[in-house]
Amino acid sequence: MSDFHLNKVAEADFPTRFGHFRIFGFEGIKTNEVEEAVVLKLGDLSPAGGPALVRIHSECLTGDVFHSLRCDCRSQLELAIEQIAAEGRGLLIYEHQEGRGIGLMNKLRAYELQDQGLDTVEANVKLGFAADLRDYALPAAIIRYLGVKQVRLLSNNPDKVAALENAGIEVVERAPIIAPPTGAATEYLKTKREKMGHLV
Ligand SMILES: [Zn+2]
Repeated sequence: MSDFHLNKVAEADFPTRFGHFRIFGFEGIKTNEVEEAVVLKLGDLSPAGGPALVRIHSECLTGDVFHSLRCDCRSQLELAIEQIAAEGRGLLIYEHQEGRGIGLMNKLRAYELQDQGLDTVEANVKLGFAADLRDYALPAAIIRYLGVKQVRLLSNNPDKVAALENAGIEVVERAPIIAPPTGAATEYLKTKREKMGHLV
């Protein structure tokens, strides 16, 4: 991880219907690739206020923007923002990498394969990708950059806890984020639970 470099690109005022945030653009530069993340920060996150509530969300255009019922991304995103707003402090780290890292067009190709009966993991494998390409170097670096030492992570994914702890962030609590399931997302959640170890 020594070749990883974090760069803050921009910071600005960001009022939303959920609350009044600061918005940041960050890029993480590895040897020959650049990852981007947008961060919404609410309130004072200094350690004196206790562990900060943090959500790491991976971009899902179809869910986040179009309210797709093929996955639970949009409802998780809203629940996370609402919980952060209710506490008056916290961080949403929005990773600009579509479909767990496979890219938007490949995600649509995976939908096509799922329509033919494959589950999300099988579809990614058929397209030549690992089930989940994400690593958490960028969010961990962002959390450290913002001076947060301890987090309460809004996640159902134990891998995220382990990845952050490996990167030197203390996860004092994993707070589950359970959106009410919709019909079309039931199979997707079953795959997350049975093949990816998510606690949903
Ligand atoms: Zn999604």
